[in-house]
Amino acid sequence: MALKYMHIGFDDTDSPRGGCTTYIAALLVEKLEKLGAKFTDYPNLVRLNPNVPWKTRGNGALCLRIKCDENIMDEIKETVIETVEENSDLIYEGTDPGIVFLSRAKVPKEIRAFAKNAITGIVSMKTALKLLKRFKAEALGFKSGRGIIGGLAAVGETLKGDHTFEIIAYRIPENWGTKRKVDEKSIIEMDRATAPYTFNNVDPETGRILITPRGPDPILFGVRGETPEIVKKAFEMVKPLEPVERWVIFRTNHGTDAHLKKVEQLSQIKPYHPVIARGIVAVNPRIVPRRHVIFAIEDGSARVDCAAYAPTGILRKAASKLVVGDCVEVYGGVRPPTQNHPITINLEKLRVLRLAPKLVYRNPLCPQCKKRLKSMGRNKGFRCEKCGLRFPDLVKIAVRVKRNLEKGLYITSPRSQRHLTKPLGRYGMEKRRVSEVKLIEGWHFP
Ligand code: ZN
Repeated sequence: MALKYMHIGFDDTDSPRGGCTTYIAALLVEKLEKLGAKFTDYPNLVRLNPNVPWKTRGNGALCLRIKCDENIMDEIKETVIETVEENSDLIYEGTDPGIVFLSRAKVPKEIRAFAKNAITGIVSMKTALKLLKRFKAEALGFKSGRGIIGGLAAVGETLKGDHTFEIIAYRIPENWGTKRKVDEKSIIEMDRATAPYTFNNVDPETGRILITPRGPDPILFGVRGETPEIVKKAFEMVKPLEPVERWVIFRTNHGTDAHLKKVEQLSQIKPYHPVIARGIVAVNPRIVPRRHVIFAIEDGSARVDCAAYAPTGILRKAASKLVVGDCVEVYGGVRPPTQNHPITINLEKLRVLRLAPKLVYRNPLCPQCKKRLKSMGRNKGFRCEKCGLRFPDLVKIAVRVKRNLEKGLYITSPRSQRHLTKPLGRYGMEKRRVSEVKLIEGWHFP
């Protein structure tokens, strides 16, 4: 029997009430290996454009890449379909699972391009269906079948460029929805021992533990890092205080900024697209209700609002110190205009490229005694309180003051970062040109 390669993508199985597409992948790892499939890669967890209006909770799509004997292919497909169906929240409106099977060794470049578009922008079902047909991929959709789009995108994102790993541990079903029990001290120790090769374990501003999610989903905790070895080491240091049903190492685009795409001009930004754009601050920052900071930038082609939200800590602080004339690069998702707001970039990051001089206007000094003069009213000149002299012709003088903002990169706090946001600690650790993936011994349980 001939060995065949297959890429199995699926998406949109969960809902705010529970479930998790990664959990279905974890179940399938065990099931498919039992059937005799060999994994050619870690399960790929591919985060798609976080700014699409119809996203699932985390907007993560999954792809399993395997090789197996041709004669078990059908059984594998049936197992995938069954497992997705049984573990999807099909009753929930807005959960529309989709599965894609692509039976060939290499993923065609057209499908890879489709994936890039699904991560940085908006793609249509029509395009997905065309590609499925052209490359003889099989697809199955539940309800509207929208998950087929994400499933195909997961197949197409082969993570040849920058990528990271996440080890995810799952709870036994009896505990789903209850408070998670993990020894916090062990997490802090793990962070100390493995950072910066693991990231976003703990929020530095609040001390909050970030590896445990808060929803009703089956995840107990997940540790992100640069290599499979380091996330496994980290996992072994964390002490769970409740049973772990299973765990798997995923290869992902977490923390890579894969969603952000440079636009040459501000006039080119489009709603729901995550962008990197440059401009000059055109309107000073203002604090608006619920305490976010809004300023505007322009570049000759357009003027665009930028918003930094309250929980984004140092980013919000930096944004509030900008002044007209500063040159900045902004990173974030584009929110469409509403009745009350123009089109706005919701900031994930801000790079201050050049600081404009900040001027304040002060009363002049007394030419006689050097004491600062008192104003006699608008355009009425000045008077010295010490020597009593009047100077009706003097005007205020501009004084350049020191800026309390430095050039450089400001990123939202880890607790409010997107899955895709590249954290500060990953700068300089980017991976390039992965030719072949080698699976480590023991990358999942059971
Ligand atoms: Zn004087």
